[in-house]
Amino acid sequence: MNPLSSNNREPLLAKIQEQEFDLIIIGGGITGAGILLDATTRGLKTLLLEKGDFASGTSSRSTKLIHGGLRYLKQFHLKLVWEVGRERAILYKNAPHLVIPERMLLPLVINGSFTKILSRIGLAIYDVLASVKPGEKKKMLSKADTLKTEPTLNQDILLGGCLYSEYRTDDARLTLEVIKTACAKGGHAVNYFNVEDFVYEDKKIVGIKGKDLILSSDHEIKSKMTVNATGPWVDQLREKEEPVSGKRLHHTKGVHIVVPHEKLPINQAVYFDDFEGRMVFAIPRGKITYIGTTDTNYSGELSNPRVSEEEVSYLLAATKKIFPNKQLVLSDIISSYAGIRPLIHEEGKLPSEISREDEVFISKAGLVSIAGGKLTGFRIMASKVMDLVIKKLHNQYGIQHRKCQTRHTIINGGKIEDILVFHSKLTTLVEKSGLEASNTNYLLQNYGNQAEAILNSLDREIPDKDKALAIAELQFALSHESVFTLLDFFSRRTGRLFFNPKSIPPLLEAVADEMSEALSWDKNKKEEEIKKVEQAMADSINFGLS
Ligand code: FAD
Repeated sequence: MNPLSSNNREPLLAKIQEQEFDLIIIGGGITGAGILLDATTRGLKTLLLEKGDFASGTSSRSTKLIHGGLRYLKQFHLKLVWEVGRERAILYKNAPHLVIPERMLLPLVINGSFTKILSRIGLAIYDVLASVKPGEKKKMLSKADTLKTEPTLNQDILLGGCLYSEYRTDDARLTLEVIKTACAKGGHAVNYFNVEDFVYEDKKIVGIKGKDLILSSDHEIKSKMTVNATGPWVDQLREKEEPVSGKRLHHTKGVHIVVPHEKLPINQAVYFDDFEGRMVFAIPRGKITYIGTTDTNYSGELSNPRVSEEEVSYLLAATKKIFPNKQLVLSDIISSYAGIRPLIHEEGKLPSEISREDEVFISKAGLVSIAGGKLTGFRIMASKVMDLVIKKLHNQYGIQHRKCQTRHTIINGGKIEDILVFHSKLTTLVEKSGLEASNTNYLLQNYGNQAEAILNSLDREIPDKDKALAIAELQFALSHESVFTLLDFFSRRTGRLFFNPKSIPPLLEAVADEMSEALSWDKNKKEEEIKKVEQAMADSINFGLS
């Protein structure tokens, strides 16, 4: 059975309980996922534990860009631009289904952050540092050409524009596929497992104590080393161990709003100025456009941050400034989400000035904690942590392991010889299945080469084709992707909650029935699960106070 099958829980936990791991990773966001892949491919016996669903923290709530790091260029962080640019190129090669080229338009406006001369020089440097491919290099545009490219821009403040290259991803799918890649190579990963404490021997950590939240069972699992990759929760776990002194986390909140594409029908992503020199993205994605983000200090609840009316008003006003003919209003918003940045505190700096670089802390008892960083740099962050872990394993246990292997590790779903040929094959399959044509891109960008198997498994007896697709996706998620709740499915496996919320109500009952059968839910549990999805949908368009 696939180790990530939702029906494999008991045997998986029994097997895990029997062993001693070389490494336990706490946290199943992109940071933990990257470390799992790195450790497994170096030959370590590794286990990842996540208290909620995989990617349910910040790693499903980002702007979903595999950055080239243009904003770092503005702050003269040249090494960072070079590093994220190189990482972007590696990720594009290893996960072509999840890293989608996206032309970005930077409108140059009166009193804007970028002047013509700064953007011309800056983007030329960016093209070199970020290893931009020849066909994707920056292009400066006159005012007339900028308006031809994006006719809805504000003519009154526009001076010109430039097109440059960025890449879009789905953060939750990326996290999940990295975990799947590691598990296919012998790694272990368990979601809905809360790590509550550590096991010590001679004042050193030799394992963890935790609770499986699906089976409600308590466990003690042994490991030689433990890594804390819990993003915004990093200090909470460090504090369980010893008082946090010196460098600590600084939480900032970022929100995005989602509107139907016809309400903001942009032809490509646009990176524009707000009122105070901050930059905001508007990114088209299938039938929607999403806009974000904010960056404000945050001290509230970490698990489910809410979007406030003030934040929405700010994003709507900033959008109106650059797209004055598209008068977006509150009721145009079909979804929204908020994420918490786990940054490293820097005294006296504003949220948007704090560095996005990562930091590693090691406690006296040997807990290795990693915080900060970006989705884009997850591979290099993982290799940095693992170089350290390997050194410690060598010093303490004499264990020798391989160097980092992930530069050439294809991410699950990404083994596609020719993406254009595969796209046309999927187009034919989608057509034959009677599905709407937009599903080709959706399936390719969600599942890569696994899309074909999903399409081939469609139940032809189900007359409603959208329902047939959702059921096929659910069956795939049940057997390969540790899906345990309806929200796991509608939010992080398929992205429907954020990007196609309208599609959920007609599917909800059928998907809930299928899941009830697969996971032996009774009627009450099924109703509870349906209510949670309805609540999440309502929350995503009801905005409270900050
Ligand atoms: P998380 O994804 O939060 O993962 C930590 C996990 O640990 C959580 O799932 C949590 O449930 C789990 N956990 C906590 N405590 C325990 C415990 N006791 N036991 C078990 N598990 C536990 N980066 C980019 O490269 N590009 C972007 O476009 C981008 N945009 C962003 C926009 C916003 C608004 C934000 C907030 C961030 C953005 N980032 C972006 C940054 C990026 O999203 C984060 O750096 C990254 O997702 C952090 O991942 P993580 O794994 O460290 O944390």
